[in-house]
Amino acid sequence: MDYSRIIKVIDDNTPEFNDLAKKIYENPELAYNEVKACAWLAESLKKHGFDVEVGPYGMPTAIRATWGKGHPIIGVLAEYDALPGLSQKQNSAFDPVVPGGPGHGCGHNMLGVATLAGAIAMKDDLEQNGLEGTVVFYGCPAEEVLTGKTFMAREGAFKELDLAIAFHPGAGNGTGVGVMTGLNSAIFHFKGKTAHAGGNPWQGRSALDAAEIMSVGANYLREHIKDGIRIHYSYKEAGTAPNIVPDRASVWYYVRAFDRADIEDTYKRLIKCAEGAAHMTETELEVEFLGGCYNTMPNATIAKVLHETLGEIPDTEWTQEEKDWADAMNKNSPLNNGQPVPPLKDELPPISHEKFSASSDVGDVQHIVPCASFTTTTANSLSGSHTWMITCCSGNSIGFKGMIRAGKVMAAAAGKFYRDPQLVKAAKADFEKDMDGKTYVCPIPKEIPIPQPE
Ligand SMILES: [Zn+2]
Repeated sequence: MDYSRIIKVIDDNTPEFNDLAKKIYENPELAYNEVKACAWLAESLKKHGFDVEVGPYGMPTAIRATWGKGHPIIGVLAEYDALPGLSQKQNSAFDPVVPGGPGHGCGHNMLGVATLAGAIAMKDDLEQNGLEGTVVFYGCPAEEVLTGKTFMAREGAFKELDLAIAFHPGAGNGTGVGVMTGLNSAIFHFKGKTAHAGGNPWQGRSALDAAEIMSVGANYLREHIKDGIRIHYSYKEAGTAPNIVPDRASVWYYVRAFDRADIEDTYKRLIKCAEGAAHMTETELEVEFLGGCYNTMPNATIAKVLHETLGEIPDTEWTQEEKDWADAMNKNSPLNNGQPVPPLKDELPPISHEKFSASSDVGDVQHIVPCASFTTTTANSLSGSHTWMITCCSGNSIGFKGMIRAGKVMAAAAGKFYRDPQLVKAAKADFEKDMDGKTYVCPIPKEIPIPQPE
C-alpha cells in the first residue's frame, strides 16, 4: 500500500494539529470535565467533513463522529482528560505551573489529536480512493478514572464496529498482545456515633475503627487470592481530632486482576471484610461502587498490522536540541539508575507479550470488538508513566512529532483493513477465539449514574 497521500494529508494539517494539542495542553481538564477539549475536537471534526454528535451516550464530553458508508466500520478511540497534580512548566526539571494543579501527565492531549489526525486521513483515504467503509471517531471521556469507555459501552457504544484501533503516547514505539489488569473501584463509607473520646467513649461507635478493621481483613485476604491480583486502598475520610470519636470514615479500594471473573470474586470477598468490620464495630456500611473495567485483550491480527505499519511509516527525526532536552529530563528522572540510556527511543521492538498490572478502559472495547493499541515515542526514555516529564513533553515538539507520526500509523493501518476483507475476517476470528464463548457484561450496573461535568 502506498502511504504517500496519508502522510501528505497529515503533514498538510500539522499546524492545526499542533495548535490543538497545545491548546488542550494549556487547558488541562480532569475526567468528565473535558468541556473545552471536547468542543475543540468536535469543531475540527466538523470542519473536516464528519457528521458529529457531541454528548452521545448521556455523556456531555463524549463525541461520536462518522464518515463513509458500509463495511468495514473502523473505530478510533480518542481520550483527552488530564491528571490531577501533574502541572508542569516547559522545564526539564520538576517545576509546576500551578503547584498541585492538573496537567497532561499521560499525554491525552496528544492522544486525542493523534486520533483526530488518523480519522481525518482515514476519511481522505476512503474518499480519494472510492473505497467502501466507515470511520467512527469516538471521543472517550475520563480514561484516567477508568470508567469513560465502560459507561459508553453500557449505553451501547462500540458494538456497531467491525474493529477498533487505539493509540497511546509513550516512551517508545510499539504494540503488544500482553494483558493489562481490569479493576473494580469502590468507596466504603462507615457511619458510627460520635462521643468525647476521653469523657464518654463507651457511647461512641467509631467509623474509623470499622474502616481500619476492614483494611486489616483485606490485608489478611491477600494470602488467599491468586497471584497477580492487586488490592490497594487509600483513606478518604478518617475523623477530625483524636478527642472526637469519628462518626464518619471512608476508604477507597481498587481490586485489579487479569481476568474479570477474578475481579468479581475478590471484590465480593472484600465486601465481606467491610460487612464484618461494620458488624464488629456496630456501625453502618454503605458501598459506593464507582465503576469497573475489563482486563485488556489485545487482538493479535490488529497488533500484527500495527507493528508492521509502525515499521513502514518513517521514524521521527529528532533535532539535537530535542535530544539534549530529553537527556536533561532523563538525568532528573527518578527512574535514572546511572545506566546510559538513549534520550529518546527510536527503535521498534518486537510485539510485546508482557503482562502489565496497570489498567485501561480500552479493555472493555476489546471485549466487544476486535481492538489493539500502539504507542509512538512522545517522551524521554525514562519518563515513566503519569509524571511531570510526560506533561512537559506533551506540550513541546518532542511529543508533537510522535503524535503526528501516530496519526499516520493509525490511518495507514486502517487502510490495510479497508482494502482487505480477509484481514478483517482474521481479526474477527482472533476475537472469537479469545472470547471463548463469553459475552461482554458491562461491569457498571444500570443504576449507577454517569458522572456529569461539575
Ligand atoms: Zn493514558
